[in-house]
Amino acid sequence: MTDLFADIVGQEMAVSMLTRALEQGASHAYLFFGPSGVGKSEAAIAFAAGLACANGGCGVCSTCRRVLEGLHPDVEVVAPEGNFIRKEEITDINLHAAYRPYEARAKVYVFLEADSFNAEAANAFLKTLEEPPGHVHFILVTDRSERLLPTIASRCLPVTFSSVPVSAVAADLAGRFGTPPEEAALIARLSGGDLAYARELATTESARRQRDRLLDLGRDLPAAGLMDTQVALDEIMATVESRSRERAEDLENELAKALEWAGDARTKSWLKKRHEEKTKRQRRRLHTKGLQTVTRVFAGWYRDLALVSAGAEEGVLNQDRLDDLRVGASQGSLLGYTQAVMAVGKAQERLRYNVDARCAISDMFRSIKEALAQWPRS
Ligand SMILES: [Zn+2]
Repeated sequence: MTDLFADIVGQEMAVSMLTRALEQGASHAYLFFGPSGVGKSEAAIAFAAGLACANGGCGVCSTCRRVLEGLHPDVEVVAPEGNFIRKEEITDINLHAAYRPYEARAKVYVFLEADSFNAEAANAFLKTLEEPPGHVHFILVTDRSERLLPTIASRCLPVTFSSVPVSAVAADLAGRFGTPPEEAALIARLSGGDLAYARELATTESARRQRDRLLDLGRDLPAAGLMDTQVALDEIMATVESRSRERAEDLENELAKALEWAGDARTKSWLKKRHEEKTKRQRRRLHTKGLQTVTRVFAGWYRDLALVSAGAEEGVLNQDRLDDLRVGASQGSLLGYTQAVMAVGKAQERLRYNVDARCAISDMFRSIKEALAQWPRS
């Protein structure tokens, strides 16, 4: 037996609850909720493997491995296409859920961004959720449980995930990737408990380059002219695009690997189709994540400037940029930087609701510049 949840860090409560469920019998519906980047989706897939595996989640059999690789026919991952999970998709699931599993012990449906059911889809889903066939399990995953319909939420067993403690993030980076202690501590602090972001920063050169570049932009923004801002905007959109393309290439490699061991032509064509859907969904998610990263870096930067302006350097996230922060703090005011943080928050809110990204970030730049000009250092 290997531990299915070995990669889930700092979620002892959730993991022990799920392990117990695998040992003693699982409920039909679960709601995994908590902040983004703390391992909810990974835990959902691992739990699905445990539910499907004939040995209760050994982590090594063909069923477990294929579920973990996203290639098992009895475990389906559902995510919104565009903004919503649509009724057609749920109708399809209702129909197929009724049939026995192809080969596994159970059928499992994992819903990512489960808060994005539209009303019709939610109604269609409720029927199955109220009286699910005995062999079916549903795992709903969301960062925004407050947006989930109460009729759906109340029929699921809640599993709480929380921010990973900064010290646990640092330990994970050091243990998993051999990140030097000082760097691990800096990244853990920057991540604010978002393990996925921390791991990305620790392992991906382009992610670190992007952070540096964004911080430079934040630093230079007060003096930047209209043209500079436009160039910066183009650059940001291009990096988000190229970073999500990079990740999509990883997915292509995964498919190539999966196809190698797929025996017959039918399995191969099924794998290809499944993979195409996955890539399409992933692209959208990667794009959204990329934009979140951009605004997160800006929010951290202006938050740090506000702190240094207030004489509270010890609370700074971007400890490696203290020199730039001190210069910035000597030129701007606490009020200006606080307003800048609020402008970033507004952009984040707009991006959540799928406002045109370029427009949201361009407005954010303008608001920041206005705030800094209005409240200079007195
Ligand atoms: Zn197994």
